[in-house]
Amino acid sequence: MTIYNFSAGPAVLPHEVLLQAREEMLDWHGSGMSVMEMSHRGKEYMSIQAEAEKDLRELLAIPANYKVLFLQGGASQQFAMVPMNLLRGKKSADYVNTGEWSKKCISEAKKFGAVNVVATGADKNFSYIPAFDTWQRDPNAAYLHYTPNETIGGVEFNWVPDSGSVPLVADMSSNIMSRPIDISKYGLIYAGAQKNIGPAGLTIVIVREDLIGEVLTGTPTMLDYKTHSENDSMYNTPPTYGIYIAGLVFQMLKRKGGIATMEKTNITKANLVYSAIDASNGFYHCPVATSDRSRMNIPFTLKDAALDGDFLKQADARGLLQLKGHRSVGGMRASIYNAMPLEGVQALVNFMGEFSKLHG
Ligand SMILES: *Cc1c(COP(=O)(O)O)cnc(C)c1O
Repeated sequence: MTIYNFSAGPAVLPHEVLLQAREEMLDWHGSGMSVMEMSHRGKEYMSIQAEAEKDLRELLAIPANYKVLFLQGGASQQFAMVPMNLLRGKKSADYVNTGEWSKKCISEAKKFGAVNVVATGADKNFSYIPAFDTWQRDPNAAYLHYTPNETIGGVEFNWVPDSGSVPLVADMSSNIMSRPIDISKYGLIYAGAQKNIGPAGLTIVIVREDLIGEVLTGTPTMLDYKTHSENDSMYNTPPTYGIYIAGLVFQMLKRKGGIATMEKTNITKANLVYSAIDASNGFYHCPVATSDRSRMNIPFTLKDAALDGDFLKQADARGLLQLKGHRSVGGMRASIYNAMPLEGVQALVNFMGEFSKLHG
């Protein structure tokens, strides 16, 4: 039976990448070593990391005045590193509150400065993105932070906020590389790798050079972007194996036609699931406003929550795994990142149709 893993993160990885990693596990390119065993300062590993960065730059068309950093600590550590590095003498920063990850990020930022919440979706249980013309922005803000895809609530921006001269900062953990982006509109982008890129343990930061180098007093060396940018992410030991796997994912994306091709498939996949929900006569329900529905994480509930257990059990029996919704939301959640094949989504949609016919 083919297994399809709908986990929100750590999440499914491309099958061909796992096969290649298995192939190279004990002896990378005739070196006699596993990538895990290599010195991060040796020529073999250095070539792996350099290639990963080069491919990432090419895939996302990252301009030359941006640094790419391979860090650890997850997106959660960026919740602190962003204010520590980007407040740069200003008193406050602007944040958009669109759900669970925004909330965590905002409460962390409050440890370092004042936070101005420019807009919140709390009035409708974070089921929508507040319209840009309602945002109460501060022209003197150090930066404007938003979460382009809320992994738990399933709301996603299909537009980029125009922050003017205020640097725009984005937590792209769960939708980076799922659609083309114009990096030049951003001051800083960060993402934990474990959703759409590779294994947990690697965090990617893309930051405009002029924003580096003016940290809050007392900022630890390891939490200063300058430390990592000046040392090509090798100030200390980087998460070498995670970077290697991410590099294989980047090579695979290039072979497949890049991010624009990914986006096409992602639209097809998301439309399949939302159509199944919308065509179910209310048997399935997605709480998110139609225009703000995520292509990556699709939360939905069953008309009768008493059927949840049956739904999950039967899905499991068909190899459709990890569909249980986040504990704060309940119901189901289908995460369909880049690495989820179209066939997996079709299998899910077929199952949803059969299940609703049987119980509807
Ligand atoms: C998963 C996730 C996080 C947390 O990532 P960690 O790497 O576990 O710290 C933060 N933000 C978003 C949008 C996420 O999806």
